[in-house]
Amino acid sequence: MTKRDYGLELTNNSKVGWAFSLPRNKTCVNATTICKKLCYGNGIRYQSAGQKAKRERNFRTIQFLLSEGGPKLLSQNLSLMVDQARPRDWLCAKITDTQTEIPWTLRIHDIGDFHCAEYVEAWFLTAQKYPDCKFWFYTRSFAEVELFSALIKLAALPNCRGWLSVDSENFEQAILAKCNIESSIWNFAMLQDPEMHDEVLSSLKIVETSAKIINFPYHRGGRHVQPLRDSILINCPAVVGGLNLQSSKDVVRPCQSCSMCLP
Ligand code: SF4
Repeated sequence: MTKRDYGLELTNNSKVGWAFSLPRNKTCVNATTICKKLCYGNGIRYQSAGQKAKRERNFRTIQFLLSEGGPKLLSQNLSLMVDQARPRDWLCAKITDTQTEIPWTLRIHDIGDFHCAEYVEAWFLTAQKYPDCKFWFYTRSFAEVELFSALIKLAALPNCRGWLSVDSENFEQAILAKCNIESSIWNFAMLQDPEMHDEVLSSLKIVETSAKIINFPYHRGGRHVQPLRDSILINCPAVVGGLNLQSSKDVVRPCQSCSMCLP
């Protein structure tokens, strides 16, 4: 790969459908030691040379476009990817006022996170331009004020949903982030690690009273830790066995049929 290798490219993921990925070491600015250790990005299929090169190229291109033309120029290029994710029968569905066979969705980052406010602004401009596409993301980038303010704006769009990713290490920081804003746009997505202590759930229960937290019991190779059961938790059905991964792009993916995390 040379430095002249540029371009933005989506990934088609068997759980979520279309997704955009970035390198973790350059973009997960508020990663915890737990998420670094348990991240599914450590799995073999994310570690191939091709997958890594794609994430690096995406990041290099983002930095280049931001430096050349700021969020506007980057958004113009992100838009080309959103067009690519549009279902084949979209025009027909529009004309006949029906639903597409597969929903138009894009998960921002199946690997990686938001590393700067300008980058978030570019996604804001893009998502605003595509009200028919549903965007969603999980983030740990809630510690830095300017970055989180940009994320609040993005997550407040009607066609976008953002989740605060919590684990045993950052739950207090996440609770503070949620409580410091007068907004109900954020919910928690919890990584249930194998040694999770009771304090995490009891602390989250102070700010959440109904079943609003999506729980992801740590899983690897088709096995997962015993899921926690609690009135404020919803265990992700794709992890605990309710939904099967789909390898074909032409069928509805688990997240698209479940849609609990989507706007
Ligand atoms: S809860 Fe549903 S939408 Fe969310 S990650 Fe799991 S399968 Fe996907």
